[in-house]
Amino acid sequence: MRHDGPVTNSTPLADLSADDLAARLTTVRGDYDALRSQGLKLDLTRGKPGADQLDLSNDLLSLPTSYRDRSGTDVRNYGGLDGLPEIREIFADLLGVDASAVVAGGNSSLTMMYQVITAMLLKGGPDSPRPWGEEPVVKFICPVPGYDRHFTMLAELGIEMVTVPMTPDGPDVDAVRALVDDPAVKGLWLVPTYANPTGSVCTAEVAAELMAMPTAAPDFRILWDNAYAVHHLTDDEAKSADALGLAAASGHPNRPIMFASTSKITFAGAGVGVIATSPENRAWYLQRLGFAAIGPDKVNQLRHVEFFGDADGVRAHMRKHRDLIAPKFAAVEDALSARLGGLGIAEWTVPTGGYFVNLDVLDGTASRVVQLAKEAGIALTPAGSAFPHGDDPHDRNIRLAPTFPVLAEVEAAMAGVAVCVELAALEKLTS
Ligand code: PLP
Repeated sequence: MRHDGPVTNSTPLADLSADDLAARLTTVRGDYDALRSQGLKLDLTRGKPGADQLDLSNDLLSLPTSYRDRSGTDVRNYGGLDGLPEIREIFADLLGVDASAVVAGGNSSLTMMYQVITAMLLKGGPDSPRPWGEEPVVKFICPVPGYDRHFTMLAELGIEMVTVPMTPDGPDVDAVRALVDDPAVKGLWLVPTYANPTGSVCTAEVAAELMAMPTAAPDFRILWDNAYAVHHLTDDEAKSADALGLAAASGHPNRPIMFASTSKITFAGAGVGVIATSPENRAWYLQRLGFAAIGPDKVNQLRHVEFFGDADGVRAHMRKHRDLIAPKFAAVEDALSARLGGLGIAEWTVPTGGYFVNLDVLDGTASRVVQLAKEAGIALTPAGSAFPHGDDPHDRNIRLAPTFPVLAEVEAAMAGVAVCVELAALEKLTS
């Protein structure tokens, strides 16, 4: 959902006379000076769990109590490249796929994405005419705003990025369709549920079109990064589209590769990452992985199995996260609405899940807002970081990450951010 706050008595700044704008600029400069004089040191940059969220999983530190899985395998030893069946079953339930589709690995799904892309570049996939690295040019479609690490990964690997708008229902399908008749376009990033940073949820209709559309590249991949599949903030719990089922039904079973992890469920640095994909892709992935590993950290996987028991255990655990972080998201909404509602200089999301609030300020002022905030002791993600190469063509997008600081800090930081947004807008409108 996107809005610019509740209807208030405020007049849109664009409707003010030059004299009124100048008077308001003087007032808001005063507010900003008062903000600076507080000597704040606050940080809204990274979407990390807060310490209280990590504490929810502290029992993991004394698990597992056994070192055998249910089949009797000794998890302390090598082997079991595709991960413990028990942990695969839990993820399969949460992701709406068959356990036979899942590979459970180490602590980072991002690493698995990197492995998939590098393997496609070096070796090609089961349906590649040749390795991507032997193509003159490889391009990926990037819905924007999106996840900065997806984009920096592609930049690092020499893959060109073409952008399409992210809508509240997922990527703009018409824009995607217009690009995939180019055989150089080999992939699409997609965070389908509570996307980073817009909070968008890809609908079943959009997912069906993406899975079914013809593409010039026979080895076109949708990297379906379901990092926030179970990270609900309200009772309105989004259900992820059935990517694997839709793709198989439309004759493109190898198109989607799904990723997820417990990074924002248990410990961000010591969780379990997974991929889920077609039988052919899974065999391909495991074959590549077999040259790089003898097996994953099954002790950690068993620890997670003992901690949760089953998928419902994960769901119950996520409700505890929600209780801790929903007030922080409400604080963001309150601060933005209170100061900016009705002024016509900003729009922001009120996400129903995930880790971020997407703030769009007056065109051409995002960098200035970030600079003003920095000088007032409030660290924000650099303007443009949700775009490939950090380049937001409108200089209007700011990603807010309220989970890590404590609630009082979120409140203080957001009150300050709202002042900076208004000041930057007034500077622009009076220049
Ligand atoms: N994917 C998305 C969309 C994310 O926002 C993040 C972390 O912020 C990750 C992946 C990282 O996942 P992992 O910790 O499993 O590597």
